[in-house]
Amino acid sequence: MHAIVMSMGNELTSGQTVDTNSAWLSRQLAALGISVRRHITVADELDVIRAALDAAARDADVVLTTGGIGPTEDDLTRHALAAAMGVGLEFHAPSLEHIREFFARRSRDMPEANRIQAMFPAGSTPIENICGTAPGIQAKLHQADVFVMPGVPREMRVMFERSVAPLLAGRGAGVILMRTVHTFGAGESDVGTTIRDLMRRGRNPTVGTTAQQTIIGVRIQAAGRDFAEARRLLDADTAELRRRLGDLVFGEDDETLADAVGAQLLRTGQTVATAESCTGGLIAKSLTDVSGSSAYFLSGLVTYSNEAKVRLLAVPEALILEHGAVSAPVAEAMAVGGRRLFGADCALSTTGIAGPTGGTATKPVGLVFFGLAHAGGCEVHERRFGSELTRKEIRDRARKFALNLLRLRLLHASSA
Ligand code: AMP
Ligand code: MG
Repeated sequence: MHAIVMSMGNELTSGQTVDTNSAWLSRQLAALGISVRRHITVADELDVIRAALDAAARDADVVLTTGGIGPTEDDLTRHALAAAMGVGLEFHAPSLEHIREFFARRSRDMPEANRIQAMFPAGSTPIENICGTAPGIQAKLHQADVFVMPGVPREMRVMFERSVAPLLAGRGAGVILMRTVHTFGAGESDVGTTIRDLMRRGRNPTVGTTAQQTIIGVRIQAAGRDFAEARRLLDADTAELRRRLGDLVFGEDDETLADAVGAQLLRTGQTVATAESCTGGLIAKSLTDVSGSSAYFLSGLVTYSNEAKVRLLAVPEALILEHGAVSAPVAEAMAVGGRRLFGADCALSTTGIAGPTGGTATKPVGLVFFGLAHAGGCEVHERRFGSELTRKEIRDRARKFALNLLRLRLLHASSA
């Protein structure tokens, strides 16, 4: 059982949009035990799409396409499919009714251009779209089942899960499940060494590491005869990885460091505030990216100038004069001041040199001090992120390091 995933659109072939649909679909297909033989990206040209569909349908059991079924002139997938099938387009009244209703619910008249979305290659079947106007198309081309879906990622995902996946379930050879376990605080080679035997070639599950901006992920891919078996293998490896990697692990799949911090704050019933300098609010931004963060995030300040640090956070001016704004004592005073100002259980502070200018011999670009004030005092950390990094990278690493400090503190506090 092999599949080919195709995506249509000039925005993809020109590089203006990155094709995320194919990656997402391949992961879904893997979960159904269907291996993907090829990804094909095609410009909005009738003949090119027709030829690509024709070739794909000769080479695979299932062809999934996304894009090119909108109402505009450059949406050509339906025409190309009809041409490949050697049939014409036929009008499907219930689909037109569905499209009209879609506009009616938004108090709009259906534009005439949308009428084309109710036209289907003769012999094909419409697939309902509950999130948009464009119905999908299910058709037989050569020996392959072809599923044509919208390009808009959300519409595509809902259509796949609702209408396509159920038709493919049971057709694959077993089930493949994937999970990524995220770690922070160790390098890729250290993580790799700790789990070397699990990464052995030919083993099931397959385990491999990926590094993404200082977050080291461990990808697990488990193949089973059925869902239960794949799930059992996946869970067993996950548990083993967690056991070995300990508190380096902060989450799985979509979980971020801020999610992990939020979960710990909720669990321990504590609140947090931020007093940031070089990270410019990135820590507060990350914390509040998490839905429900109002339960624990009280407030955040970006105290960039010395004056703001003194006036708002009550950092003693003498401290700045003596040690400089980028220093351990100032990071500590910022965190303590922020904690007191907002009445939070914990407060994070950052002060550093994000570059590319502003570095000196003693305080190079990449030097960042962190404060974490809590009921028991204040921890201060110093990091030297490489001066070859960009400003954006240094600020991002500082953000992650700060979030991780808080995560580790709460983790150990809650288990104490
Ligand atoms: P279309 O259905 O071709 O009109 O596509 C609608 C929109 O969906 C495009 O403008 C893109 O923004 C987005 N889109 C289309 N194909 C993809 C894809 N393969 N990956 C991510 N986004 C896509
Ligand atoms: Mg398009």
